[in-house]
Order: sequence, then C-alpha cells, then structure tokens
Amino acid sequence: MTLHTGRHFLQIPGPTNVPDRVLRAIDAPTIDHRGPEFAELGLEVLAGMRKVFQTRHPVIIYPASGTGAWEAALVNTLSPGDRVLMAETGQFATLWRRLATRLGFEVEFIPGDWRRGAEAARIEARLAEDRTQAIKAVCVVHNETSTGAVTQVPAVRAAMDRLRHPALLMVDTISSLASIDYRMDEWGVDVTVGGSQKGLMLPPGLSFNAINDRAIAASRTARLPRSYWSWDEMAGPNATGFFPYTPATNLLYGLREALRMLEEEGLGNVFSRHLRHGEATRAAVRAWGLEILCANPQEYSSSLTAVLMPEGHDADRLRDLILERFDMSLGMGLGKLQGKVFRIGHLGHFNDLTLAGTLSGVEMGLKLAGVPVKNSGVQAALQVLAGE
Ligand SMILES: *Cc1c(COP(=O)(O)O)cnc(C)c1O
Repeated sequence: MTLHTGRHFLQIPGPTNVPDRVLRAIDAPTIDHRGPEFAELGLEVLAGMRKVFQTRHPVIIYPASGTGAWEAALVNTLSPGDRVLMAETGQFATLWRRLATRLGFEVEFIPGDWRRGAEAARIEARLAEDRTQAIKAVCVVHNETSTGAVTQVPAVRAAMDRLRHPALLMVDTISSLASIDYRMDEWGVDVTVGGSQKGLMLPPGLSFNAINDRAIAASRTARLPRSYWSWDEMAGPNATGFFPYTPATNLLYGLREALRMLEEEGLGNVFSRHLRHGEATRAAVRAWGLEILCANPQEYSSSLTAVLMPEGHDADRLRDLILERFDMSLGMGLGKLQGKVFRIGHLGHFNDLTLAGTLSGVEMGLKLAGVPVKNSGVQAALQVLAGE
C-alpha cells in the first residue's frame, strides 16, 4: 500500500464526503432516547426532513440502509401477491425489483437499456391495458445511481392521472434527495424512499419513507405482515419526537446539522450548485472525447456522471490506478456495466475546487492508463465554472 497524505477524495456517488460540521455534531454523548432532550432533536429532524422532501406529510426515519426503506415502502402498503409495475433503469431498479419479487409480489419489469430514465409513455401504455386495475403500485428510481439518468417523475404522475389509475406511485430518491430538485407533494408521489449517505451528506445508516394520505390509507388495509418497518408503530411516538425502538441517536445529531447546512444554503441554491457541477463534469467528458452513459440530455443527472470506457479499456483498472496514485475513489460500473463505466460522484459536500481536483485526478489517470483523450477535460470544466 502506498502511503497517502492529505484528504482522501471519496468521489463515488454515495457514501459521499461528510462535512466536518456533521462529523463534529455526531461526536457527542449519546442521550436517553426517552428523555426530554431527545424529543427536541426528534421533532427538529422529523420537521426538517419534510422540507427536504418538499412535503407536508409525515416522514418515517429508520435506522437502516436505503434497502430497508425500499422494503418498508412495499410491506406497509401492499398485500401478498399484489401486482407491481417497475421500470428497468439500471442496477438499483433491478435490486428493488428483486426485493419486491422475494417479498412475493408479482413484479412486471418494463425493460430498459440502462441509458435513460423510466419512460412515462411505456408506463402509461401498460397501465392502459390494466382494465381490472390489478397493478397496485408503480415504482420508479428518480436518479438511477448506476447510470446517471433521471426519471421525469411528473410525467409518470401525469400518465397515471390521465388514466385515473389508482396505483400508488413510489419513488426512490436515495441519490437525488438534497441534490436534485424533488417535490413530493407537487408531483403527487405517494411514497418517497430516501437514504442518508448521498445528498444528505451523512454517513450510511439512516433511511426514510415520506408518506402521503393515500399511502397511509393503503397501509390500513394492506395485508403483508410487518413489524420492524411498520409505519403505524412510528406514528404515535413520532408525534412527540420519539421512536418506538432505539433510534440511531448520533446519526440524528448529524442529520440535524446537515439539515441546518441545507437550510443555510437554501434548497434552491443546493440544486443549482449541483446542476452547475453536473454541466462542468459533462464538459470535461466531452473534451476528453469519451461518452456519457446517459443517452438523453434531458435526463442527465446532476449528482453523478457515468462515463463509458472506449473499447479495449477496463474501467476498473483505471479506477484502481487512480486510487493507488491519487488516493481518489471513483464509482465502479454496477451489474452488467462492471468494467465498462466509471462513475464520478459530484454531490453532497462539494464545491468548484473539489470538482477541479476530482477531474484532474481522472485526467491524469486516463493518461496513465493509456486511454486516448482528445483535449483537456479539466480546462473545459474550468471554463464552465469560471463562466458563471
Ligand atoms: C444507494 C442507493 C440505494 C441503496 O441504498 P443502500 O443504502 O445501499 O441500501 C438504492 N437506490 C438508489 C437509487 C441508490 O443510489
């Protein structure tokens, strides 16, 4: 192992770099989670999370990774054998589908090429055939972290509304929350799934369900057994800032601090910062002469960019080299994209110079790996950054 100095660059699209302020907030004595001091913390983070989801509805906080919140969304609202419609946007959609299948749902998976978001027109076409309204939920991934393609959630909602289809709309925002604009209420989403370790700038370990009235109504008649994930169990104690079981108290300290940081910057500014960094990253990729995996410019992600390697070059070899030489972690190609793409995370605790450093590491790595590049991507990105 080479000895490295300075800070590691954790430029994977989650977990992301945790701000010092958040680390310091976590580094405090754990308190009694049934005492009065905890209630204040609980109420503050539960209210703060509603703002981040842009909802006036309840948010459930689990001491779990994002996968737990995926499961919670399904087991609280559905019954054994229910039909669920999902769209194959990439690896995360594929994993959510596997989870749903294991829970015993009849999952229909609209095939995709892992280069674009879920297509509203295809969801609409399938729902139009569903005359008996057997489909009980439509589940999409907002920002597909394996590909860097964003699903246009309002278009999916509009398709469901045109048909007056009563299925619940569930959206995974694990890698878009607090980095890409997401409006739960305005967009008519029934259940939103979130996680702590991406745009929220926290370590892994917390995940979320934001749930509207339709979702809560569905949970009253849903027949799948549930206990740990039960929204019902949470609602009572949450009303006064408490939890039914021991919460991840120190992560909640971190969450409180992260929410304050987002509030100080303003959510609108957070989103435009990410848009700008996404644009600068794509300018770099184009200057290098490499291909952006996301095939539809309308769906470019502003939290990460997946880059296709030219024929004959292995993305994992490039990533290994960059880690060894420059102490920077880049995201690997997931599932069928392994070795074919690398992913640059540009979300969370991030600024112009973090991006400049990140792209410099990629550019030097490409040269070291013998990957032919046309022009300096770093120069192209700096121009975008300086042009504002
Ligand atoms: C990271 C991620 C997940 C998985 O979350 P875990 O915390 O690893 O369980 C799910 N969906 C998306 C879109 C993600 O980016």
